[in-house]
Amino acid sequence: MSQPLLEIDSLEAGYGLAPVLHNVMLSVGVGEAIALLGANGAGKTTLMRSIMGLGPRVSGSILLDGQPIDHLKSEARVRRGLGYAPEGRRVFPGLTVVENIEVASNESKAMRKIRTARMFDLFPQLVPKRDTPAWQLSGGQQQMLAIARALMTAPRLLLLDEPSLGLSPLLASQVISNIRNIVAEGTSVLLAEQNVAKALEVCDRAYILRLGEMVVSGTSKSLRESSAVRDAFLGA
Ligand code: ATP
Repeated sequence: MSQPLLEIDSLEAGYGLAPVLHNVMLSVGVGEAIALLGANGAGKTTLMRSIMGLGPRVSGSILLDGQPIDHLKSEARVRRGLGYAPEGRRVFPGLTVVENIEVASNESKAMRKIRTARMFDLFPQLVPKRDTPAWQLSGGQQQMLAIARALMTAPRLLLLDEPSLGLSPLLASQVISNIRNIVAEGTSVLLAEQNVAKALEVCDRAYILRLGEMVVSGTSKSLRESSAVRDAFLGA
């Protein structure tokens, strides 16, 4: 693989004195969708927040395009090309769908219009809801809106934290299926998920976190076929 977009090595992270992540390594290449799998509390959110510079105390190496970013504030990491859709569908409930999308942009009015139109191409389910207040959307539509908001800064790497949380299997599947289109538009994706089967279906490779340590990594195909992974995560 050529130089990875994101490369993490020997990462330790925690809150206060409590360690959460230990000796974590992970890489995401340009044009890849990578699944970050693990049970509740395994440390997926802590890893994403460490990459974004949002809270955890971190040591070790986080490189974006081969350059260290761990000394940068979160906004500077966004300017370097990171986007983050945190767990829990963060949208402004009182704003309409189009307003939610537009306010997430940091660009000129003309560019904002172009990117807004791209978001409606990417999430056609939102087109009929364009002028609907976000609080009236279904959970799946709110999740798509949250992802569209995170994409408005045109990130080269989108961190997506458990987009299927609280959704029906059908809606979860629809939301996760959008990931291939996001990658096709030029944004690599790191997807934290508990919906293992679906994540392995759309992602190229996957890492499995267990109690803060990376225990397995490999291509999605090899992990789907691995009996250890199947037994532990796919309920087989
Ligand atoms: P979930 O699917 O529940 O979000 P996760 O894999 O994302 O799980 P994390 O949320 O990263 O896991 O949590 C990992 C560990 O870190 C847990 O033991 C959790 O209690 C702890 N933790 C998370 N946030 C904090 C915090 N702000 N302060 C202290 N400990 C925290």
